[in-house]
Order: sequence, then structure tokens, then C-alpha cells
Amino acid sequence: MHQTTQQLFEGNHRAISRLISLVERGDPRAGAVMKEVYPRCGRAYCIGITGPPGVGKSTLVDCLAGVMRGEGLSVGIIAVDPTSPYSGGAFLGDRIRMQRHYLDPGVFIRSMATRRALGGLPGVVKAAVRLLDAAGKDMVIVETVGVGQTELGVMDVADTVVVALMPESGDAIQTLKAGLMEVADIYVVNKADREGSNRMALAITSMLKMAITPSDWTSPVLTTQAHKNEGVEELFSQIQRHKGFMEGESRLEQRRGERRGQEFLESIQVEVGRRLKELMATDPEFRLILARVESGGAEPYSSALELLDGNLFDLVRRPTDTPA
Ligand code: GDP
Repeated sequence: MHQTTQQLFEGNHRAISRLISLVERGDPRAGAVMKEVYPRCGRAYCIGITGPPGVGKSTLVDCLAGVMRGEGLSVGIIAVDPTSPYSGGAFLGDRIRMQRHYLDPGVFIRSMATRRALGGLPGVVKAAVRLLDAAGKDMVIVETVGVGQTELGVMDVADTVVVALMPESGDAIQTLKAGLMEVADIYVVNKADREGSNRMALAITSMLKMAITPSDWTSPVLTTQAHKNEGVEELFSQIQRHKGFMEGESRLEQRRGERRGQEFLESIQVEVGRRLKELMATDPEFRLILARVESGGAEPYSSALELLDGNLFDLVRRPTDTPA
């Protein structure tokens, strides 16, 4: 692995790809890789873009990457695809949507399909962001459809969250329901060429005034026409403004710190859950207890507690964790 991480530090895109795949498939070496790259992390700024399907997120990301490249910044893009079970489909999407940047060595693009990620999706996306960070990308953009908790969980990784909408009746209400409002640092009403975009922007602004507890940051509401690259420079300058806000009074450090703690706890939960499943399938002692519970010979709750207080954690310890 050492050689591949070395190549990653040099910004090699093949190395980035290989290491993201390694984490994505839950390879046992993933922990060691993440530990090795960790000291190189913390420089990149991460932007999350979320919103309902079809509002123009990919088009916006494409334009935004263009603006960033114009500023001389290198860019990593992770498109989380919640629908496609195979990354094959997602890759095809990349090729069509992001053609413009395909030959640019300053832009790395990767799709991740929700259902393919074994290690719990938010964790895998976080790892991918770190890998891009360690590879020297200045900006990392994570794009995801804001439809469910898992997808919104992905936004935990972002330093600035952009919620994209379009002028369509009912959209704003749907968005509120989906919990998108709480996560947004910046709102974009895309497809401003369509009827009702200003009305929608005003509706969001007034909803913000009513719904959200006052904070030092008031989320701006922008209008864009991504397919014509209009309003995207303004979006980038608002992202920069939010970045400046976050960097003031250690807000960024605090947000990142809390999230690291959260990620640590989530990782334990995910790993313990995964290993328990493995145990259920393989460990004779565990299967014996399980069989007793199933046959009615032991009470489920107290048996679980007894196991937890007893040797469960010895059972959960992976054999590869003990020195060879
Ligand atoms: P996503 O599903 O949110 O990623 O949406 P896409 O970026 O794939 O865009 C969906 C469709 O909307 C595509 O056909 C885009 O060309 C189109 N689109 C993007 N931005 C605009 C816009 O500002 N106005 C109009 N009319 N169409 C747009």
C-alpha cells in the first residue's frame, strides 16, 4: 500500500481511484491507509451540493468546477448516486455530464453508488474526501440527491452546504419536509429561466426568516441558470464568503472537530454491527447462544446483556487484529 499512498500524495489520479475503491469495498487494509493519509489531511475545503433529482446539481457542479479551475484551484468531485446499484451506470453519467473536465488533470471525478458501499455510505464518502484532500485537491465537491437520511448524512462531510432547488410548485414544501432546509448554508434556485424562480427565491427567504433560529450566518438565496453558466460565479463568491465566515472564530475547526468525534462513534457502530453479522454466521459459541435464544431456552434481552458483559468483545475482535 505504501507505494500507492505515496503516489496519492503526488496527486496521481489512478492512485486516488484505487484507494477509494479499496475503502469502498471494505478492504481490511482500509484502516491502515486512512491512518497513513490522515496527517496530510485538513487543507482541502469541502462543498456539498444537494437537492431533489433533476434540479441541475450536476450541471451546477460542472460549472462550479470550471470557475474553480479558472481561479487556479484543483478540484475533486464525488457524485453520490443513490439510484444506480452499479457504479457502471454512474460512470456513464459522469462521462456524459462532466465531459468538459475529463481531460483536465486538475479535476478528479468519481461516482459512488449508495448500494455498493459496504462500510456505511457516509463513512465511505468521508474517507473519499480525505483521500482527495491528501492528494492535494484544493476543493472537494460532494454532490448527492437530497432524498433520505443517508443522503443527507453525506452532507456532514461538507464545510459549506449548498441546497439546490428549482421553481416548481410544491418544491419548497417538499424540501422543508425532507429536512434540507436545516442543512443549507447557501440556497440556489436553479432554472431561473423558468417561470416562478423569483417567487420561489422570495418564498425561501421568508421561510428562513420565520423558521430558523437566528444565527450569525444568514443563508443567501441565489438564482442561477446552470445550463448557461449564469450565476455560477456569484455562487462561488458566496461559497468563498461562507468559507471566510467559517474560518473566523474557529467555527470551521469546531465543526470539523465535532464531526470527527461523530465519525469515530459511527465507525464503531458500523464495524461492530458488521462483525456481529459475521459472528452470527461463523462463531460456534455465538451460534450456540443464539440457538438457545431462538428455541426459547434463554431470554433474549438478558442474554444480550450477559454476552456484552462477558466475552462479546473478544469474539468481535478480528483475528487479523492480533499480531501475526
Ligand atoms: P441533477 O439531477 O440535479 O444533477 O440535474 P442535471 O444537472 O442532470 O440537470 C437536469 C436537466 O436540467 C438537464 O437536462 C440540464 O441540462 C437541465 N438544466 C440544468 N440547469 C438548467 C437551467 O438553469 N435551466 C434549464 N431550463 N435547464 C437546466
